Amino acid sequence: MLIVQKYGGTSLLGAQRIQTAAIRVAGLARQGARVVVVVSAQGDTTDEMIARAEQLNPRGSAREMDAYLAAGEQMSAGLMAMAIGALGCPAVSLTGWQAGIRTDGIYGNARILDIDTQRIGRELDAGKVVVVAGFQGIADTGDVTTLGRGGSDTTAVALAAYLQADRCQIFTDVDGVYDRDPRRFPEAIRFGRISYGKMLRLIENGAQVLHDRSVEMAREHGIQVEVLSAFTGAPGTIVSAVE
Ligand code: ASP
Ligand code: MG
Repeated sequence: MLIVQKYGGTSLLGAQRIQTAAIRVAGLARQGARVVVVVSAQGDTTDEMIARAEQLNPRGSAREMDAYLAAGEQMSAGLMAMAIGALGCPAVSLTGWQAGIRTDGIYGNARILDIDTQRIGRELDAGKVVVVAGFQGIADTGDVTTLGRGGSDTTAVALAAYLQADRCQIFTDVDGVYDRDPRRFPEAIRFGRISYGKMLRLIENGAQVLHDRSVEMAREHGIQVEVLSAFTGAPGTIVSAVE
């Protein structure tokens, strides 16, 4: 059983939330599952980093911006691996390029072209939980790229596809996909299941729960994606081919 779990920024905000995720991950590993964890930057880190960069250079090069922003996810990955390790469960963190994630050279909005999963495979075979920094990869030039805002979802789905994972779970701060923003509309209705097409239409209309490319990637590879709450872990919404 191979499981890919992605944790978003709010799900990693503060030591306690990282620990909550780490306990869930270690529990699965103890039951014998092979687990790959994809992490976003903590909380508003990416926004804060962008603001800091703009103070120094409002028209900074896209290449430098990517080299800089990728660090947000790397910090989360290191912290998550240490939190899992503290529970007595061996874990290793990998950057996007260490994880073999090859992209095109469009800085700030790169597309994943291919994943060489050898390194991840070796670490899993050695009995480790593999924590991958989301949102990033490496171009043929050897430069660091990022996948666009919200791109960690796409890292998770792409890894699930290339690793032929049995499950792909996106843990977030809402308990599933709603027909409108549940934080603004209390009467919003939650889907138990939603099709790729309908999910993409919701994203077009402003829903931010998933990165659009993650849904396209899931549809292309037939990956069933589960969106669920990082706080409760209760069953959320399944995004798949069927309604
Ligand atoms: N940290 C990046 C962002 O805020 C990527 C992500 O969270 O998925 O856009
Ligand atoms: Mg997101």
